[in-house]
Amino acid sequence: MASINSEDLFKNIISHAKEYGFIFQSSEIYDGLSAVYDYGQNGAELKKNIREFWWKAMVQMNENIVGIDASIFMHPTTWKASGHVDAFNDPLVDNKDSKKRYRADVLIEDHVAKIEGKILKEVEKARGRFGDAFDEAQFRTTNPRVVENQQKIDAINTRFKAALEANDLEEVRQIIIDLEIVCPISGTRNWTEVRQFNLMFSTQIGSVSEEASTIYLRPETAQGIFVNFLNVQKTGRMKIPFGIAQTGKAFRNEIVARQFIFRMREFEQMEMQFFIKPGTEMEWYKYWKETRMRWHRSLGFPEGKQRFHDHLKLAHYANAACDIEFEFPFGFKELEGIHSRTDFDLGNHEKFSGKKLQYFDPELNQSYVPYVLETSIGLDRMFLAILSESYAEEKLEDGSERVVLRIPPFLAPVKCAVMPLVKKDGLPEKAREIMDRIKYDHNCFYEEKDNIGKRYRRQDAIGTPFCITVDHETLVDNAVTIRYRDTMLQERIPIEQVENILNEKVDMRAALRKLN
Ligand code: ATP
Repeated sequence: MASINSEDLFKNIISHAKEYGFIFQSSEIYDGLSAVYDYGQNGAELKKNIREFWWKAMVQMNENIVGIDASIFMHPTTWKASGHVDAFNDPLVDNKDSKKRYRADVLIEDHVAKIEGKILKEVEKARGRFGDAFDEAQFRTTNPRVVENQQKIDAINTRFKAALEANDLEEVRQIIIDLEIVCPISGTRNWTEVRQFNLMFSTQIGSVSEEASTIYLRPETAQGIFVNFLNVQKTGRMKIPFGIAQTGKAFRNEIVARQFIFRMREFEQMEMQFFIKPGTEMEWYKYWKETRMRWHRSLGFPEGKQRFHDHLKLAHYANAACDIEFEFPFGFKELEGIHSRTDFDLGNHEKFSGKKLQYFDPELNQSYVPYVLETSIGLDRMFLAILSESYAEEKLEDGSERVVLRIPPFLAPVKCAVMPLVKKDGLPEKAREIMDRIKYDHNCFYEEKDNIGKRYRRQDAIGTPFCITVDHETLVDNAVTIRYRDTMLQERIPIEQVENILNEKVDMRAALRKLN
């Protein structure tokens, strides 16, 4: 197959995900709901396996980490204390002609990026002219056009930062107008005022409307852990340092929702809050950065697919933060966040609830509000990372083509397909016998339709690592053919070995051992 650009590749991945039962648009028969997706029969399996790998690596492998499952609904004051009611906002602006809505900060940042592009062009031109003698730093500080553009950028950034800090939305609008930013659709500068838009979804609790009170769908799972900090610490007799993990749905009313399941309005997070002694946070920050990166690298994707990105602007609750970024088909983007949250959350919950959320440290003989180190990964983004990295369009030696998902075998939705070569002569019965042996341990698939080549292709397309074929010989020698997804090689093995081979090759334990 001719090599394709990453935009087309991403389109192919999206249609493949639909065609093979991984991801469907939500309520598709009603034309879908924007930025909401459903996982199909293969997607649900893959997602479950990723969740299980995270959970085992986090909870089962660490004696001092336990898991909980908190509710999506929480007392509304939770979100006051966490800062989400007041600060979980995006500044929005509408163009009156196109009726399109934009994030005001993104419009300004895009404008700055355009000026940066001009500078880069000048730099590259000069590099070509001067060759080896080119001194980029000197050029940037002396070339009049570059200096002028850099001054423009600095002035915009200073003004924009001041406007955001003062929450001066009129000034944000004025910046957009002064920069003569136009709507890419209508081409006009006819902007509404800028409004803060809270990303939390709200609903009413209570059966009678007068009694109803506003509650929110949680925008992150972390707060369910913080409010249960003492419950878990006391009932589990946990000693600091210890962690609480959970996986579950979170909801954000994202304005600019695109890029498939990368940015959704309903998504799943896998979070772990690690409670530590104040002052030790930098040690633990380093520890969790390394530990989480090891988890990502254990999947065996090529070097350089993941990288750290330090946050320049820290969130209100953090004193150190970075992302693990993954190279998606649309570029490097955040996959997981690692945040040193200090005592911000527990401290605020103490204040708002009036309840003490402290830990008595027997070594120090004193109580304190623990600091928190958080690791937070989006399950759907991890799914997309694995799907896009596993997807390959291949041209085979015989000139035919195949699409294969090279999903790490222990995560594959179907571990093994069992196929009688033909649908008669006692072969289906023999194949069913094998299915009955292995189905207790693994999600397996029985298939007898179509010729064997077509059946192999279908299994390649959903990432099934092994196919077992029963043929007429099997009835004589009690052996079957095992065919490997990645190499397409075929081997003859005795039926008694099928279970062992499968157990060994799709075993999650081997992946977990790599983490030590
Ligand atoms: P972004 O900057 O991409 O909006 P964020 O910094 O707001 O993400 P966090 O609040 O740190 O994200 O959430 C932790 C993780 O949850 C992210 O690393 C990401 O994997 C996942 N996540 C956040 N928002 C979404 C979303 N809308 N859809 C899917 N996953 C998400």
